[in-house]
Amino acid sequence: MKLVIDAERCAGHARCNAVGGANLFPLNDDGYIGITELDVPPGQEALARRGARACPERVITILDDPDAEG
Ligand code: SF4
Repeated sequence: MKLVIDAERCAGHARCNAVGGANLFPLNDDGYIGITELDVPPGQEALARRGARACPERVITILDDPDAEG
């Protein structure tokens, strides 16, 4: 499972970080998301999914979700 993040559209709410944790969603010094993609470590899929869904700007896209329908 992988996340792709459109960091240019990040508004710095830090919701992803608060929900998904700093390991998956590190912030830069300005409080914006510090990565543009992430290979989700095994076992962290649910946490990554929650963090991605917490983004109010919807800039985090989930790819290859093993639990996704279809
Ligand atoms: S929740 Fe979305 S807008 Fe907020 S810091 Fe994370 S990626 Fe950026």
